[in-house]
Amino acid sequence: MGTWWHCVFLQLLWGEAFQNHFEPAVYVCAKCGYGLFSSRSKYEHSSPWPAFTETIHDDSVAKQPERNQLDAFKVSCGKCGPGLGHEFLNDGPKRGQSRF
Ligand SMILES: [Zn+2]
Repeated sequence: MGTWWHCVFLQLLWGEAFQNHFEPAVYVCAKCGYGLFSSRSKYEHSSPWPAFTETIHDDSVAKQPERNQLDAFKVSCGKCGPGLGHEFLNDGPKRGQSRF
């Protein structure tokens, strides 16, 4: 979405390590291989986990409301169902985007 210049800038900043980090890649379910996230929607976040703004398919993941957190969902593979992590609403790089 028109942010390649941003990546280039960061690559210059971070060099080789950052570049490897952002190789075109698709993150798939470890169990069934279903496409979950694309590195295109990957972005740098302060947490040690990879952060994404969107899934590849609408049904890539199944979401369940987290009991104690109103703005978080438990995220699991849309096909075979093991838990993957969480989606945090409005915690993405832009207003209204989610962080996975
Ligand atoms: Zn799966």
